[in-house]
Amino acid sequence: MNFFNNKTVQFICGSQHLYGDQVIDKVEINVKEIIDHFNKSDKIPALIKFKKVLTTPDEITKTCLELNNDENCIGVIIWMHTFSPAKMWISGLKKLTKPICHLHTQFNTEIPWDSINMDFMNLNQSAHGDREFAHLLTRMKISRKVAVGHWKEEYVKKEIGVWSRSALGWDEIQNLKVARIGDNMRDVAVTEGDKLEAHIKFGFSVNGYDSDDISSEVDFLDEEEVNSLIEEYQSDYDIAPKLQRGGTLHSNLIDAAKIELGIKNFLEKVGCMAFTTTFENLGGLKQLPGISVQRLMKMGYGFAAEGDWKTAALLRAMKVMASGLDKGTSFMEDYTYHFGSKKPLVLGSHMLEVCPSISDSIPRCEIHPLSIGNREDPVRLVFNAKTGEGINACLVDMGEHFRMIVNEVKSVKIDNKLPRLPVARALLDVQPNFIHATRSWMLAGGSHHTVFSLDLNIDHLNDFCEMAGIECVRIN
Ligand code: MN
Repeated sequence: MNFFNNKTVQFICGSQHLYGDQVIDKVEINVKEIIDHFNKSDKIPALIKFKKVLTTPDEITKTCLELNNDENCIGVIIWMHTFSPAKMWISGLKKLTKPICHLHTQFNTEIPWDSINMDFMNLNQSAHGDREFAHLLTRMKISRKVAVGHWKEEYVKKEIGVWSRSALGWDEIQNLKVARIGDNMRDVAVTEGDKLEAHIKFGFSVNGYDSDDISSEVDFLDEEEVNSLIEEYQSDYDIAPKLQRGGTLHSNLIDAAKIELGIKNFLEKVGCMAFTTTFENLGGLKQLPGISVQRLMKMGYGFAAEGDWKTAALLRAMKVMASGLDKGTSFMEDYTYHFGSKKPLVLGSHMLEVCPSISDSIPRCEIHPLSIGNREDPVRLVFNAKTGEGINACLVDMGEHFRMIVNEVKSVKIDNKLPRLPVARALLDVQPNFIHATRSWMLAGGSHHTVFSLDLNIDHLNDFCEMAGIECVRIN
């Protein structure tokens, strides 16, 4: 999935008129060469566009307002090729609402020792031009990313690439709508929070709907649509014999497919790209949604169980941030521990709802009883997660403010077959070690629900928190 589509990062360069038009022309040529180089890099997923070389306060303010109004613009790279007196930037920066990446680079690589003269010095003075600009940003308490180094260096491009993913997630979450189908799981604390404050802080709205809004969609489904979804299941998964056509429980697979279509149609109607469910409020639904929410997550929807709207919104934002990457991002829950070996491990899972984007093989489609929820047995996809480095992240409401908590984790191979565990799972080696990671997570007030990603790292979420203006607790 490519969520970047027609989204762009705009590049503006600061200068001043002191050096004459020739220098300004040269600045523009150099900036365009840098942008061209960035756009050819596989480290930077966003399309970068040249906006302007800015040399006067009025021009700067006008440009910042244009950027605010450009709905395809997810962020701005700003660089001072020459000196650019920073008082010129005050009015514009006061108005600019887009995330900033301050690129601290220099066009020239090495000092040309034999030919260096004052013309060269005037053109290549980012070393003090960027410091003047950075002073003002800090004085104005404007958060931003600072990418430092020569523009051809891979690590510089990597930093810009990470920031552009965060900016895409930030762009997404500001207009996101979350459907809360059913309310919170009764008496649970961490899934609660101030939805109004979240709307003000992040831009996403959370509205409540009834489970019967889904069942009424289910009642009006087209039979052909249901049949073609069953065929899709058959080509995508290894289906248990009793769920197959002619099997004793095939009708349960049909019910599950109807729930998927019902939820999808409903979400499209209300324009929501994230949602929650809860097993305590299923209305007329025959099963707790299992395979349906698993597949909707794979399609890019944000989801979290038990009314957890914060994790649902975060999953959507992180799926968008991971645009084009293929290791996967899922709703997850720290479930049970494996002590006894020299390295304690965490088995992550949920009672049904883990996204098959992280599956290491073709998922098995199975049906088993669920001891809670008081409904028919739900159909679910069962698999092991891919191995590799990743993160677990959660967003919690501390009452006075929101806090993101991120822990580096390693998904490790599951050597045992787990023949009696009918849910998808990931076995996690939390970093830097079990004691430090779990103690820090709990002292920070972290949730038992998380977003687990094999595509993103701590830097992506740290940049995202800078944009949102929230605290980021990093455990590694
Ligand atoms: Mn849960």
